[in-house]
Formats: sequence, C-alpha cells, structure tokens
Amino acid sequence: MRPFRFLIAAIFLMSAVSTALGSAYNARPKLVVIIVIDQFRGDYLERYRDQFSDGGFRLFLDRGAYFSNCNYDYANTRTAPGHATLLTGTYTSGHGIVANEWWDPEKKKLVTSVEDDATKLVGPAAGIGASPHNLMTDTLGDELKLATNAKARVFAVSLKDRAAVLPAGFGGDGAYWIDPKSGAWITSTYYRSELPDWVRNFNESHRAEKYWNREWKDSDGKLLGSTAPRNGADGHPASFYEVVGSTPFANDYQLEFAKELVLYEKLGTGAATDLLVVSLSANDILGHQVGPDSPQMHSMALELDRSLAEFFNFLGHQIGMANVWLALSADHGVSPLPEFARTLRLPAANLDARSLHDQINASLSKKLGEKADYVVDLDYPMAWLNEKAFAGHKEADAENDAGEAMLQVGFAGYFTKARLAHGDVPPTEMGLRYAHSYSPEGGWYVIGIPKPFQVGITKGTDHATPFSYDTHVPLAFYGLAFQTGIYRNHAEPIDLVATLASLLGINAPAQATGRVLTEALTPQRHSAGEPPAQHSTERGAAQPGGTP
Ligand SMILES: [Zn+2]
Repeated sequence: MRPFRFLIAAIFLMSAVSTALGSAYNARPKLVVIIVIDQFRGDYLERYRDQFSDGGFRLFLDRGAYFSNCNYDYANTRTAPGHATLLTGTYTSGHGIVANEWWDPEKKKLVTSVEDDATKLVGPAAGIGASPHNLMTDTLGDELKLATNAKARVFAVSLKDRAAVLPAGFGGDGAYWIDPKSGAWITSTYYRSELPDWVRNFNESHRAEKYWNREWKDSDGKLLGSTAPRNGADGHPASFYEVVGSTPFANDYQLEFAKELVLYEKLGTGAATDLLVVSLSANDILGHQVGPDSPQMHSMALELDRSLAEFFNFLGHQIGMANVWLALSADHGVSPLPEFARTLRLPAANLDARSLHDQINASLSKKLGEKADYVVDLDYPMAWLNEKAFAGHKEADAENDAGEAMLQVGFAGYFTKARLAHGDVPPTEMGLRYAHSYSPEGGWYVIGIPKPFQVGITKGTDHATPFSYDTHVPLAFYGLAFQTGIYRNHAEPIDLVATLASLLGINAPAQATGRVLTEALTPQRHSAGEPPAQHSTERGAAQPGGTP
C-alpha cells in the first residue's frame, strides 16, 4: 500500500473507532447534578407533595425514581459526615469524617473536618483554608476523573465550607462557599491561587446585596421573616450567613451562583460526564431555630420547590434534560422542636450541654481524685477527651470513666472509641449504627447514646442521633436511566454513588459499600451485562410501589 493510501485508511479507521467510542459514551449524560439539602427530612416530600409545583420536587416524585425509605445507617448524623457519606458511598468507618469538628490532641484545640493549615482562603476573606485532607477514601467525582483521564469536570458549592469541600473530593476542579460575613464566594489555595474571573465578577457586582432588606411572606401574604440588617447575640451586626442564610433567599442566592458556574465553566459541554454538587444550607440554619413542623419550614420547602424548578428549567435550556441526570438527598434530618413535641406528651427535652459538660467533669474529678477538664468538649452527644488530663490512664479506661460519668447525667448509654476500634458492639441494628460511626481520626472520644427527642441545646432543636427523625432523608433520581416510581423498599444514602457509578460504567469510590438500586433502572440499563434470570428475580423483589 502506498504511504498516501495508508494514511487515508488509517484516518478512516481512527475516525471509525472514535465514532464507536462516542456512541458508547452517548449512553451517559453530559452532566450529573446532585442536590443535597441540609437538614431536609425524608418526610417533607410526602407531607407537602400536593403543594409542590410541576418542575421542582415533582420532577423526582412524578417522573423520577423516589426512594421513600432511605435512612443513614450510622449514629453521627451531622453535616460533614453526611456529605462525606453521600459522595464516598460509605459511612464514617470508611471515610473517617466523624463530626463537624473534633479535638486534635497534637494541636490541643478543636479543628474542623476540612480546615487545613497547608492552605489559605482565596477571595475576599483571610485565614486558614480548607481541603479534603481528612477524607480516608475518594469520591464519585474522583472516580469520574480517574475513568476519563481527568476530562470530567467536578465542582461543588455550598454556604458551608465542609459541604462544598468534602463532596468535591480530592480531584475536584473547584469547591466554593461563602465568607459568612459578606456572603462573597470564596475558595481555598487547595484548588487555585486566585478566584476565576467569573467568580470575582460575581462578587464585585454585589450580587449578595440584593438579598438584604427583603420580606419573606407565605402564600397568604403572612410575614414569616425578613433580611433587614440586625444585631446578633454578641451586639454586632449579624452576618449574611445568619440573616439571609436562614431564609429561602439564601437558596436562591446559591442557585444563582450555581447557574453562573454551569455557564462559565461550560459544564455539560465537554467530552466526558461532568459532576456538580449543590449543597443548599439555608434549611438547616433555619430548621435549628424553628423546628421541622413550623410554618416557616413548610414555606421554606415550598419556596425551595419553586427555586429548584427554575434551576432545573435552566439546566433544560442550557444542556437539555435528556443529557442530565439529577439526584436528590440530604445530609441528615432533625428532631422535632422539643417545645412542640412536649405538647403531645412526648418525652422531649432541651438539655444544657454546657451544664452537662461541667457535671461530667465534676464527676470525673471526684473519681480520679484531681480536678481537671477531662472532657474538653461536649458536642452533644459526643464527648472529646483531654488525653493529657488522663495522664497515666489507658485510652480504654479513660473513655470508660467518661462514659460512666455520662450515664450519671442522663445518657441512655455510650460507646467508647476504643470499643468501636475493636468492633465491640452488640449484634443489633443499633450496634451496627455505632460501628459505622467509628473513625480513627481525632483524639480520644466517647459517643453518648441520647434518649429519643432529647437535644443538647437549650433553645431550638438539633440532630446527631441514630433515630429516624435524624436518619430519614430523601433519595431520588431523575433522568433517562431511571424507571419512574416510588420505591418503598430499604435504601441508604450510600446507595446513591454506587448506583451512579454503576450506570456511568466506572468504579465506585474505593471504600463504597452501597447497593446498586437496580429496581429503579430502566430495563435496558438494568439488563446490561446481566443474565436475564437474575434481574427478573431482583425486579420481583422490589416493585415500584407508587404512581408514575
Ligand atoms: Zn444542622
């Protein structure tokens, strides 16, 4: 063959190969968007279903695959562990994130789950930056990167650093969160040394300002709140995070930023599937104050429904919904407001963690014969111990002593870090939840078992228990790969990335233990590569239980 003909043949062959790869890849979406709503309890979607509009939550409920019985199978239902769990597909025992902050025995101070002394904040803020350096495993975004020679692009946004940094994984192209005071978007030198132009322009055009001085009314025109500037508890002007952050306007602000990110980073237009995680923080900030059954949280759910409909509409215009898969979940739920639960004669209570902390230390001081702050922090129901104060004691003994002192102040039980490290839990459902809560990170600690409906704050409500009000969250998908239905069988937040990774044809994150939710996949996805007999039984085991 003459060189010229050979060249033509080679070009023809190469283009045939790339077309074949292209068509195989067309089965996958251009963009996956995971919406995580902070403190959005699993029962809200059913409670307000008939009041939602067409294109928001009902996109999942009417035209998607919705798992109504999704629960975290661990006890430490906080924001950082929840976000780590959702994107790594494993619990704290696999990803290491046990709390939002913990005691660092070397630095002798509390550190947050993402603060990283090797980094600095980037943007109109100063201070220590953040990175996923405490994660013990990788995320869905990291696996997408590995599988596509880093062509996939991965971003996460939230008002809170932990809720952006952990979902973006190690290889994320960007994680953005806000400076609490001003509301300006910032990041960390872990990702880049300066803000991209589009973020700087966003901040400089004072987009945060239009969310101040607004009134929040329900559908009957009743005033539910306002973002007029006010002073905080310390007498100083309250921050954007506090004032705007606890209203539906904060969700709009975040989605406004997410839209710009999609446009300027050209998500969904590259050669590989891109990933965007949007973690909406406002529901949690407000929910702690007013509780899940308040008219404010009701309105918040309806307002968010409207905002999401607008965002999905934008994605449809920009990328086309045939090219997008959506997933929806939450990092944890929340306990009923004790004040309200008590009116129904439930054994609910607001406990004073500060006073419990003092009582535990007094009891330990008496037992050990020396006055000291043995417990340095009671992040109810977790107690962080000061190893130095226990000088001469073994970890297991120190933690046992602290646990016994916790029983005396009303905890229903406790697990020590030393016991959890050895997998020493009873063979019960609850035992497993605590085994899943173990992390080798941080210093010595004890996880107290609270009594149901008791929270460790004197006002408002909280989460961080293994009870259903904290573990029950939505899990829903929308996109061509999913079989419409309401699935009432068992599901867990760790199933989210297991399912998406399987559909994308990539590895699940290294420590992922979730299940592929095969019952919710369209028949052709479901059957790909599986013998027919196997999937007919699986389908029989879990039929969609609801309306289309
Ligand atoms: Zn919270």
